[in-house]
Amino acid sequence: YAKNQGANRFQFFSESMNEQAVKRLHLESMLRQGLREKWFEVHYQPQYSVERQQMIGMEALVRLRHPEQGLISPGDFMPLAEESGLIIDIGRWVLEQACQAAQSWREQGLYDGRIAINLSAKELDLDHFNETVEEILERTGLPADALELEITEGSVMQSPKQAISSMQALRKQGVLLALDDFGTGYSSLAYLKKFPITTLKIDRTFVKDLEHTLEDRQMANAIITIAHNLGLEVVAEGVENSDQIKILSAMNCDICQGFYFSHPLPHRDMTGLLREHKGSLPPHLLSHSTPK
Ligand code: C2E
Ligand code: MG
Ligand code: MG
Ligand code: MG
Repeated sequence: YAKNQGANRFQFFSESMNEQAVKRLHLESMLRQGLREKWFEVHYQPQYSVERQQMIGMEALVRLRHPEQGLISPGDFMPLAEESGLIIDIGRWVLEQACQAAQSWREQGLYDGRIAINLSAKELDLDHFNETVEEILERTGLPADALELEITEGSVMQSPKQAISSMQALRKQGVLLALDDFGTGYSSLAYLKKFPITTLKIDRTFVKDLEHTLEDRQMANAIITIAHNLGLEVVAEGVENSDQIKILSAMNCDICQGFYFSHPLPHRDMTGLLREHKGSLPPHLLSHSTPK
């Protein structure tokens, strides 16, 4: 009986492993096809300075628009994109698209803020990645200080020495660097000092229950204070209501980003938003905020 069960169990595992492998192969070939057939899209989410009532940045977020399956979010393909190395090609495409879009909004006089783009550990690890960035900036005409690259603690910690030297090269060019999802990773405060970053993004988990939970307010406040003492700008991610904005503003958080202001928008919709409001905070959001 035991032998039998063992055999069944083995079969069960090998079948599900097989299923998983097949799924991965499908997903990987879909990503390859997506690159060839231009199924990827970049969406843009505004970042507002509540104090200045102005859109001072936007974050580029990649999606895959599958002809049958519709819009697929990065959470569903990023892990495999990273593992397979396809993130290198996807990331380069996103960088190019987003820099081009930002520069075209700038040239039309619609926008003078910056564009933030997410980097994976693999990209940061590339030799001469900063030359790729330089080349794209030259080709698109985007000034280096209008580009911000977002890096997570986790990806820096995969090989901190290499990552830090890549970051230093990028800073030398004038590119801004943000530490993304701060507070969820592994890095210590000692590392925070070593990273040549300009911006700290407070992870959404601290913002989510800000208006209900004292501990989250204390954490957010401490993060903002430390960041400001280190001369960093602070962005709060995942801001979903006006109470959160009021609390973050009172804590002197520099920039807010989240569904309360806008979901990430396709290129055309971002152009529409910029045309309509020229990057200032849409009027219906003004009454809720408490600018100082
Ligand atoms: P992230 O960089 O931390 O991006 C923020 C994520 O939070 C985005 O999810 C955004 O849509 C979502 N978000 C924004 N505001 C709110 C809010 O108010 N509430 C909630 N619940 N969520 C909010 P998205 O677009 O699904 O991206 C997920 C992650 O995928 C990103 O997290 C980033 O790590 C990665 N990613 C996205 N685009 C790229 C890319 O071009 N390259 C790389 N390497 N990674 C990317
Ligand atoms: Mg990000
Ligand atoms: Mg984030
Ligand atoms: Mg995240």
